[in-house]
Amino acid sequence: MVDKAIERCLALSLAARTQQGEALAATLAELDAALAEVQSRSGVGANLPAEPAAPPEAILTLDLAGYLTSWNAAAETLFGYTATEVLGQNILFLHADDDEDDHIADLFMAQGDNPENSDNRVTAEVRRRRKSGDVIWVKLAMRLLKDDGGEPVGMHVAMKQVHEPLSEVDKVSLHARIIEDSDQGVLITDSSERIVSINSAFTRITGYTPGESLGRTPDLLRSGVHDAEFRAKVRAAMTGAGPWRGEIIGRRKNGELFPQSVTISAVRDEAGNISHTFSLFSDISVHKDAEARMQRMANYDTLTGLPNQCLLSQLMGQALTEARRSHEHGALLSVEIGRLGAISDTLGHDVGNELLQAVGKQFRGVLREGDILARLDGNRFAVALLHIEKREHAAIVAQKLASSVAAPIELAQHTLQVRVHTGIAVYPEDGFDTNSLIRHADVATSKAVQGEAEFLFYSEEMNQRAKEHLRIESELRSALHNNELLLYYQPKVSLRSGRIVGAEALLRWKHPVRGMVSPGVFIPVAEETGLILELGNWVLEEACRQVRAWQDENLIMTPIAVNLSARQFDARLPERMADVMQRHGVLPEQLMLEITESLLVGGADNVISIMNELVAMGLALALDDFGTGYSSLAYLKKFPISTLKIDRSFVIGLPYEENDCAIARAIVTMAQQLRQEIVAEGVETAEQMSFLRELGCDQLQGYFFSPPVPPDDFAHMLREGKRLAFTSR
Ligand code: C2E
Ligand code: MG
Ligand code: MG
Repeated sequence: MVDKAIERCLALSLAARTQQGEALAATLAELDAALAEVQSRSGVGANLPAEPAAPPEAILTLDLAGYLTSWNAAAETLFGYTATEVLGQNILFLHADDDEDDHIADLFMAQGDNPENSDNRVTAEVRRRRKSGDVIWVKLAMRLLKDDGGEPVGMHVAMKQVHEPLSEVDKVSLHARIIEDSDQGVLITDSSERIVSINSAFTRITGYTPGESLGRTPDLLRSGVHDAEFRAKVRAAMTGAGPWRGEIIGRRKNGELFPQSVTISAVRDEAGNISHTFSLFSDISVHKDAEARMQRMANYDTLTGLPNQCLLSQLMGQALTEARRSHEHGALLSVEIGRLGAISDTLGHDVGNELLQAVGKQFRGVLREGDILARLDGNRFAVALLHIEKREHAAIVAQKLASSVAAPIELAQHTLQVRVHTGIAVYPEDGFDTNSLIRHADVATSKAVQGEAEFLFYSEEMNQRAKEHLRIESELRSALHNNELLLYYQPKVSLRSGRIVGAEALLRWKHPVRGMVSPGVFIPVAEETGLILELGNWVLEEACRQVRAWQDENLIMTPIAVNLSARQFDARLPERMADVMQRHGVLPEQLMLEITESLLVGGADNVISIMNELVAMGLALALDDFGTGYSSLAYLKKFPISTLKIDRSFVIGLPYEENDCAIARAIVTMAQQLRQEIVAEGVETAEQMSFLRELGCDQLQGYFFSPPVPPDDFAHMLREGKRLAFTSR
């Protein structure tokens, strides 16, 4: 049976080779059927799913002028015309494009002239119009029909539709397949924003299965990192304002945040109402990671992990723009590591690199968080100090860097000693852009290397100032231990009784060579270097010792005010005060503490609680130099301050300067409302005294009554009961 079928196949295929035209197509169809019979009988392909039979080709023939001479059933199905309707018509009525004839002619020229194409076959894909008016793409194969004498008599055309249109049902299911198989997550909500459909990529990316997400709202994925304005934009897209594309941070089921690239849009029904919204998203965390890695490579030094010059310039650029606006100072330090070349040459580059890494770590350890440490190249680091109060602070940082590597550095195999030289450029003085600052800092570095200096400023003036600063610092350290410090006392007198009601202890430095040095010179240096803590303790100690000594001499004591630096004002201050008072047997009411406004402006909460503790111990607080800072009435109310000291700068102009008078009057009125005592500082004349007295000021301090004097002189004034003489203006 099988053999018979095969025989028939062979016969038919032979026939196919010898026959032409329409008969050929029929023969081929018969051949297919026969082959199928063979396969089914022999079991070949029995397990394969049945393929739908390919639609038969439309075959038509034309005479040489293009008029149709035959039209098969497949042509009827393809174009919707019956043979009766079309036979005798010119083929042109099927053409969808007017210029197609030229195109086909060109093809004949090109393909038909090929000597290997003996039967002048031409194939092309063209557009044809159906009876319904639809235009379809067909693949057509044409060849010349020749008579027995080889003369062309007509044309044989076979056509097949290239793209089968989808049925609506197929379209829907195909779209569903595409959505389901898409790499992008898909989430569709209904008009009440409940999730009605998701695809498998959604589950893969977010971790939520259909069971866990359908019926919920998209808030399921909300990360909570976006602000209200951002969320409003996304909502607008969901409520029909047009599609929104962007990046959103989502949250997976496991809690992990992930960046997604999203398109969100609304779908409207025929009536124009929003029926659904959809979002298509892809997880871009991988790209983001790569982006971050690239960013790192472009901006960071691979050896030390520190910012490179490129990032330094970017960061400085922003800071410089800010600094220009707010008139701030900054500095750029260029730090060269000495001997690195020699170390690398003798011990190898790996050791050199290890050393650089260690130095970078040491440097970072002594810098503040806001300072930028970068590696410029080779053996050079840079430090950008973006906001410094004083230019001299840059020198302190340079010293810190040097001392951070002063001790030998222990590496895996070696212990090495390095020396660093720093050049400092200050902005705005030495340059307003990163490049010129780096250049100028480098000039200073070279000089520092040549002169074996630890650091040098670019400008000579700054070098002088820094030298002076350093000299004061080192001399002040020894002053503390060489008994060069002493306290003077300046009395405060009552503007009602004229009696001495207190005194302020003022620090003096009796320099062995320079004589008496003013605190205006050395206190700022002490503040910057931190020496103020030691100085401050010395002052407290000395003031308490003196109070006790006077008390032991049966002197009628008035409270002695001690100035406190903001740096002394820490959580342990009450404890230190209690300790020193207890050791000397001094009572809290025998002392008073003077603080400045800068303290109030800084970290207020902590400061208030320390103040409250001091007040609870019985100590009184006075606000010094009032009016020079930011004080406002509302502000002052928050602090437990019992005395206000009007700054000398407002007293100078009294009673002739209108502004000063107005300010003094306002301060007094305000202090009276707050029930604070008012002390006027720096009163030098009788006129000033009278004016302040009339204003209602409580006390006066100044040269008019007495300058700061040594302790014995003050004791003498107390003993003799020196009084303020009231003279009228
Ligand atoms: P201050 O606390 O405002 O002290 C008042 C300053 O005004 C003192 O300057 C005093 O000598 C000066 N003075 C007083 N009456 C007059 C006057 O009639 N005319 C003029 N022209 N000046 C007058 P001094 O002693 O040079 O102290 C300057 C500043 O140094 C003080 O200002 C205070 O802020 C600080 N200071 C002084 N001693 C200490 C201390 O022990 N610790 C701390 N942290 N700072 C201190
Ligand atoms: Mg004072
Ligand atoms: Mg003052």
